Amino acid sequence: MGRTLLTAPPKAILSFHRDTLGDCVARLACGHHQHTRDNPPWVDRPWVRTAAGRARMIGSLLPCVKCRDGLPPDPPPPPESCLPLTEPVDE
Ligand SMILES: [Zn+2]
Repeated sequence: MGRTLLTAPPKAILSFHRDTLGDCVARLACGHHQHTRDNPPWVDRPWVRTAAGRARMIGSLLPCVKCRDGLPPDPPPPPESCLPLTEPVDE
């Protein structure tokens, strides 16, 4: 049996940030990061583009292939790369 996503343990999403290329990345409860790109038609995740959409996904489970592969946790993202979970309010 090959190594597939099916064997990766599900982990809860804690927060979202952007990587150095500007792609949306989820930080999981295990300390691993996983890309959550919106790249239709291959990957269709329109919710990553809005704060409300991201907020809805906090606590959702993603299969973590890095846990399955026994990789060490990813370093925490710098605060300036974190994506907001609430819409900006006009002053
Ligand atoms: Zn993990």
